[in-house]
Amino acid sequence: MQWPEAGKLIIKFNHCQKCVYSFGLPRRCPLCGQDVGSRRLEEAPVSISEPFTDGHREKCSFLLRPTRGTFLREYDGRSDLHVGITNTSGVVYNYTVHGVQRDKVGWEQSVSIPLLRPGLFGLRDQWDKYLEDFSATGAWLPHRYEEDHHNCYGYALAFINCVLATEGEEQLDRDEFTEKFVVPRTRKASKYITLYRAIEERGFYVTDPPSPQMGPRPGSGLC
Ligand SMILES: [Zn+2]
Repeated sequence: MQWPEAGKLIIKFNHCQKCVYSFGLPRRCPLCGQDVGSRRLEEAPVSISEPFTDGHREKCSFLLRPTRGTFLREYDGRSDLHVGITNTSGVVYNYTVHGVQRDKVGWEQSVSIPLLRPGLFGLRDQWDKYLEDFSATGAWLPHRYEEDHHNCYGYALAFINCVLATEGEEQLDRDEFTEKFVVPRTRKASKYITLYRAIEERGFYVTDPPSPQMGPRPGSGLC
């Protein structure tokens, strides 16, 4: 099995009145060739946090990853995604044409959405049993699998709704769940991937810095 390559750390720093992104901090600015050395504290380089996590370290979470390959290598924004739910020891339950799988590897580069909000923490003790019992029902036998309607997403969402029902909470429909929870994270992941690949191609990536906040000038008398 191919092990997903860990991503390199992206660093952002300011030089030449631009924001420059690269893998690690270069000695010289790629734009002007000058030393990137000492600088004021507010100009200190910052690292950009990766939107992916090792799914096997996430407890009670909803995970997404490309069906084939990894986000950083193969994902193009439209590739099929595969989803699963972790138990409290990082085993990823996911439904495929072969029935419910219990993966201990393969989700090392995932987008993760924690499912236990504060207030539902009492559920944690029951989580593994719920997940196991739910997965053992006839609905998730291999022959019931249908690529478009009865798939990994349906399985995960049905489980989430099953938990919500147990807690007396309102159900989520597919669109609501996608809009509220999935889209913001996949959008963030896509942005990161674009940035990552641009750096990989050219060695760095440059943007204009955000325009400074235009506060009211002294005596300008706004309002
Ligand atoms: Zn420069």
